[in-house]
This record gives sequence, C-alpha cells and structure tokens, in this order.
Amino acid sequence: MNSNIDSVQLRELHFELLYPAARIQARVEAIGQALSQSHAGKNPIFLSILSGAFVFASDLIRCYQGDCEVSFVKLSSYSGTASSGAVQTVFGLGQNLSERHVVVVEDIVDTGRTLHYFRGLLEEQQPASITVVTLLRKPDALEFPVPLDHIGFDISNLFVVGYGLDYDGLGRNLPGIYQLKEQL
Ligand code: 5GP
Repeated sequence: MNSNIDSVQLRELHFELLYPAARIQARVEAIGQALSQSHAGKNPIFLSILSGAFVFASDLIRCYQGDCEVSFVKLSSYSGTASSGAVQTVFGLGQNLSERHVVVVEDIVDTGRTLHYFRGLLEEQQPASITVVTLLRKPDALEFPVPLDHIGFDISNLFVVGYGLDYDGLGRNLPGIYQLKEQL
C-alpha cells in the first residue's frame, strides 16, 4: 500500500479520500445513539455481515448503550470491483433468532442483492424485529428492494475502500473511506 491522507494506491488502482475517520465516527455515534433509544431493554443481537462490516460493527456496538449480543455471518457477492451476481453463504446463522430483536450491520448496499437475500433467510427464523443498518448506500445502483433503517452516507456509484472495505484483499485497515479515482 502506498498512502497519504488524501490518496492511496492499492495494487494498480488509485483512490482519493471521501470521508475521513472523524466524519465516519460522528455518523457511527449518531446511529449508535438512535439504536440505544429504539432498542432500550430489548437485548438486541447485532448481526454483522463479514467481511466488510467488521470495522463498522466494532465501532457501532461500542456506541450502543445497554445489553446487546454480537454475531457474524459471512456472505459474498463481489469479486474485484464488480458484483459477481450470485450471493454465496460461506458461513452463517448459528443461533436461534426467533423472538430476538436483530440489528443487521452491513458495510455497503450496492445492488441490494446481498441484503435482500439475507433478509429472506432471517425472516424464516421469525425474529421479533429486524432493523437494518448500513454504513454506505449507492442509491443509483439499487436493483433489489431493501428497507434500510439507518444509513451512514449515500455515495455515488464509484467503488470505495477503507474502514473495513477492501480491494482485492487490501485497504480494510484504512481509517477513512476512499473512492476510486475516475480515469481521465
Ligand atoms: P450488493 O449485494 O448490494 O450488490 O453488494 C453488497 C456487497 O458488495 C457489500 O457487502 C460489499 O461487500 C460489496 N461492495 C459493494 N460495493 C462495494 C464497493 O464500492 N467497495 C467494496 N470494497 N465492496 C463493495
């Protein structure tokens, strides 16, 4: 990785800073506060979709005030910088979610395919409620209906990395979010 604050190179691609860490943290705190109020006394279970959402989930649960549990599910539909089309469950839902208040934590909603698929799986378990939180959403890419309760930021259709999101395995450790520089 070749990086400074404003730009980063990952393999052959160049990215520029979109949201610095402090801006992200302010949004995460606001969402955490809202969830603390809406889920007070409900002992929600945060279900983080791996791998991209692990950084967001780890910050978000530390902004949640009250009892909660955390679990992880691994789904994937992406390879390189374009969606591969099919959602694959790599490993998943271990515990019984029936009657639980579930908070799904996603990194980014692009076509919506991943969340649409995952919500269907969740509903089969008849949880008491499903709340969906995504750090990022690309409104122009949406193809599947996905109700979202909290959105960190709406962004353009450009590919992004950082704060848990990768390009070909790299960039997850960047504290900010960076977007692909458009080719001139
Ligand atoms: P969807 O199923 O909504 O099309 O895609 C959702 C998944 O694709 C996300 O969880 C994420 O893993 C991946 N994804 C979508 N857009 C981007 C992007 O701009 N950057 C990265 N790194 N991953 C993305």
